[in-house]
Amino acid sequence: MLIRDFIFWLSSKRSVTDAIARRGMKNGFARRFVAGETLSEALTASDELCRQGRNVSLNHLGENVSTEAAAREVCASYMEMTEQLHAKNLSGNISIKLTQLGLDLSKDLCRLLALSIAKRAAELGRTIEMDMEGSGYTDATLDIFESVQRETANVGLAVQAYLHRTEKDLQRLAPLEPKIRLVKGAYRESKDIALQGKPAVDANYKRLTTLLLEGATKGSFFPAIASHDPMMVAHAQAEGARLNVPKDKYELQMIYGIRRDLQQQVHAAGNVLQVYVPFGTDWCPYFMRRLSERPANCWFVLRSLLAESGAR
Ligand SMILES: Cc1cc2nc3c(=O)[nH]c(=O)nc-3n(C[C@H](O)[C@H](O)[C@H](O)COP(=O)(O)OP(=O)(O)OC[C@H]3O[C@@H](n4cnc5c(N)ncnc54)[C@H](O)[C@@H]3O)c2cc1C
Repeated sequence: MLIRDFIFWLSSKRSVTDAIARRGMKNGFARRFVAGETLSEALTASDELCRQGRNVSLNHLGENVSTEAAAREVCASYMEMTEQLHAKNLSGNISIKLTQLGLDLSKDLCRLLALSIAKRAAELGRTIEMDMEGSGYTDATLDIFESVQRETANVGLAVQAYLHRTEKDLQRLAPLEPKIRLVKGAYRESKDIALQGKPAVDANYKRLTTLLLEGATKGSFFPAIASHDPMMVAHAQAEGARLNVPKDKYELQMIYGIRRDLQQQVHAAGNVLQVYVPFGTDWCPYFMRRLSERPANCWFVLRSLLAESGAR
């Protein structure tokens, strides 16, 4: 936990993130978790994944824009991503972050931009997904999700198993019959609102997985179990079989570059697997979160940096 906190602290230090950002793509280590800096690179990676039988979810990295112009620019980029996925006949969708669409500036603006993306995707017969960010945004994210999903019925939402509130939120969302991406949760949250420690989060993750799969049998959810934890994946597969949920009525999700061995196993077992494919120039905070989830990942960054300095 100390190492995780340290990496989180480092990720807030501009000099550190700038130094990593300068070297990350050039040196190649960022490419382990980030498909590239441009949409074209992300589409190439997506094409490769789709050829291997995976679906993709494209995410244009970035969070917390501070001007309306920047929010509209991100919106246009998400539209373009949907158009390109469609034009290239790639199976999958896009994942949006509401703070990238101006949530800090105006909830109305953010809702309108999210709605316009969902509408365009619906016209193309496609879906979108919304990421869940830190707990300060949970209420607004649920409100915007509900409002957009009511109009377009093609939106999925991430919910976090570490939050005490999540089971209640799922009861609230069930009438909308949404796709729900269940994640453990990637932010630092205090113990009054979130479970602390892996055993407690894992136990709640399993419980919510079962609840979502039970919902799938009644048509109230399309569960997307998003984890690289073999125990969570095995639980979802076992519960899916016990509850007789057909394999096309739920899916597993993992992140680009993480546990590729497990991704292969899940695909070989006949499960639907969607891979979250992030790209963009603003990749450093995302990259640091992936490092903090597994401090052993820091070694390959250090190895690449040492190799680079040795080469000079
Ligand atoms: C598709 C997808 C979308 C997500 N969207 C969101 C979101 O919208 N909001 C949000 O808060 N969080 C999101 N997350 C992140 C999530 O909350 C967790 O922080 C992250 O998935 C790590 O938890 P885990 O379930 O993989 O299990 P953990 O218990 O963290 O890890 C279990 C095992 O998985 C492997 N592993 C996990 N992380 C890594 C890594 N970085 N590198 C290498 N191996 C690793 C290791 O083998 C580890 O032992 C998403 C995750 C996925 C898979």
